[in-house]
Amino acid sequence: MTFAAQILTLYPEMFPGPLGISLAGRALADGRWSCSPIQIRDFAEDKHKSVDDTPAGGGAGMVLRADVLARAVDHALEAQPNAPLLAMTPRGRPLSQTRVRDLAAGPGVSILCGRFEGFDQRLFDARPIEEVSIGDYVLSGGEIGAFALLDACIRLLPGVMGAASSGEEESFEDGLLEYPHYTRPQIWEGRTIPEVLRSGDHAKIAAWRKAKAEEITRSRRPDLWERHRGVPDRSPSGARRETKED
Ligand code: SAM
Repeated sequence: MTFAAQILTLYPEMFPGPLGISLAGRALADGRWSCSPIQIRDFAEDKHKSVDDTPAGGGAGMVLRADVLARAVDHALEAQPNAPLLAMTPRGRPLSQTRVRDLAAGPGVSILCGRFEGFDQRLFDARPIEEVSIGDYVLSGGEIGAFALLDACIRLLPGVMGAASSGEEESFEDGLLEYPHYTRPQIWEGRTIPEVLRSGDHAKIAAWRKAKAEEITRSRRPDLWERHRGVPDRSPSGARRETKED
């Protein structure tokens, strides 16, 4: 099955861009996923092909119009009725490896990329759109977020990484960050590879890796560590965090 990605954007020429090379590029050439950028401007109906207008209530910047975007979204929904419709927004639910795995297991995604100040709220009120954020910072457009989301999905598609590397031991897969890796040379600048990794004792190696993953998660990402241990969210924002069961 081909994972079908539709990207609604004002810059369709950006795609597949970085997803056209390396692992994702080979997967695209092999037909494991397809990339269909859709020009939002094609759904504008005035002679200037306007997609945005000034914010109601005043303020800086421009807002993407609900009527134009809804036509683009309806087109995408008609082409792929079973694929989730996502919009990249900084206020969306933070993208997680759990959500990426769910998306990668499905038929594909339609991704709406914002620009300017973002979208007219009525678009979200009127259409089944899931808002997704790729982090607590502001990009100039949703395309970079779409690349990140698609890249994370594509590498999980069957046959893309190969049998040897299923991704199951990577960061976030069991709620922990990954343990450290080493490779030859055995001694570099006076630093040696930990003895246990050269012992050949697989049980000991697994135990060492688990302990390291826990130590790194506890010190670098106390939020993940709390979640891993099932401690309820007590963040100042009160926002609900994803639990292992999500
Ligand atoms: N006014 C918006 C705000 O304060 O939330 C920011 C708009 S941003 C300049 C333009 C577009 O970039 C957004 O509509 C969204 O599509 C995308 N974008 C920016 N930051 C993002 C993030 N962290 N995650 C996902 N999309 C983002």
